[in-house]
Amino acid sequence: MEISYQDFLAQAKAKRPGLDENRLKKVYLFAKKKHNGQVRQTGENYICHPLSVASILAGWGLDQPSLEAALLHDLPEMANVPIEEISSTFGEEVSGLVEGVNRVGKVKLRGSQDVEFLENLRKMFVAMAQDIRVVLIRLADRLHNISTLDAVPIAKQKRIAIETLEVYAPLAERLGMGRLKGELEDLSFPYIYPEEYTWLQEIAKPHFKYSEKNVSGIMNKLRQQLVKHGVNAKVEGRPKRKYSLYKKLLRPENNRDITKIYDLMAVRVITEDTSSCYSALGVVHQYWKPVPNIGISDFIAQPKPNGYQSIHTKIFDNMGNIVEIQIRSEEMHLNAEFGAAAHFAYADAKSHGASDKKLQEGTAFKITDKMSWVKQLAGWQNQVSTASDDIEDYKLDALSKHIYVFSPNGDVYDLPENSTPVDYAFRVHSDLGYYIQTVKVNGRIAPLDHELKSGDIVEVQKSKTIKKPNKNWLRFVKTQVAKGKIRKVISDQV
Ligand code: MN
Repeated sequence: MEISYQDFLAQAKAKRPGLDENRLKKVYLFAKKKHNGQVRQTGENYICHPLSVASILAGWGLDQPSLEAALLHDLPEMANVPIEEISSTFGEEVSGLVEGVNRVGKVKLRGSQDVEFLENLRKMFVAMAQDIRVVLIRLADRLHNISTLDAVPIAKQKRIAIETLEVYAPLAERLGMGRLKGELEDLSFPYIYPEEYTWLQEIAKPHFKYSEKNVSGIMNKLRQQLVKHGVNAKVEGRPKRKYSLYKKLLRPENNRDITKIYDLMAVRVITEDTSSCYSALGVVHQYWKPVPNIGISDFIAQPKPNGYQSIHTKIFDNMGNIVEIQIRSEEMHLNAEFGAAAHFAYADAKSHGASDKKLQEGTAFKITDKMSWVKQLAGWQNQVSTASDDIEDYKLDALSKHIYVFSPNGDVYDLPENSTPVDYAFRVHSDLGYYIQTVKVNGRIAPLDHELKSGDIVEVQKSKTIKKPNKNWLRFVKTQVAKGKIRKVISDQV
């Protein structure tokens, strides 16, 4: 469905009443003019895509530079507009974001889908982004692309879907963006496992139908009881996501048996504050007994590693079915759905005069733990854990202590910053460093002490026979492995 500029603007203004409309319009018209005559594979005018991406970001409450960068993001690649032109026309903040989005666009799943390489690919993505907004723009870009994947040639569909499932969805999860993660997974699922998807649809249908009916009865009863006990809360029903259901069915203890899944339709109770969560839990257990042993998980007292907070309780309904009830405050709910992006809503609430007291109480939106998502990302590198207090709001410097480079077939290796092709060679294979004939970085011959950057493609051309490392290499190599290997051979020579 084609989105209009007016729709986008209305959405953006709903979250950010103070945005500069004149400027935004100028950016839009600039992008529209440059994309003029280009058509997407869906048949729509190309400008629809950047407009949709900007609209997704507006829904997340992102700031004006992010919305502008989204409108401009495909100009360098699709319309040959140089970054310099964007920078001289709209300034460095926006052009920096556009540049970042294009840099990160080079991070593609091409090599092995081994767990370690996949994790490195995700880290490479974040390391190359340098600014959290770049990650969010790329995620929104992918969400729109995967929503319109039908129009893409079939051969390409599967690659993009796998990349979305293995790289983008886990990144969204890392950022605590539960809703986005679920959407990316469910949109990729049918392209990757079409037969399994059909199977799931068929077996799940009658069970969803039954659950829905059953749960609506519970919801009505629960609403009445909450009112009666003076607990102010919203009660809603939520069907389980398809891909998440599929993964759960594959667990050995479930053995593809859908009758073992208790949260096909979960009931969600959203309260005003944390203490009301426990009041609501009391009300629930007064009317429905928790299931012994598997009953209650208190992720409020003990949040999940990505910061997720909620109380989950499994209860017996009046027919002896097991139903899951999730209880969380409004703030926890926004955090669980929007994670990193929720920060922007917070920054905006503050700039629009929400008092500090309100922010503290959580009546306006807040993130108590300073940038918990930055810590999450930084947690990928142990050595920066102490530096997290100094992290600037948007910067991802924490990850710059590592670089991530591609092998020619697309596998991703992590190395310390300023590493060289010699470090790379010993990292890829314990002996490859002894057979270096020449090295190429991004297709060009490079010196052995060349400093590698994230995203570089590094190729070692092997000599036929072993070549003794030069002791001068010790002056530039960064990894302990390389140093040890070089020293070993040098000392053998003595
Ligand atoms: Mn795009």
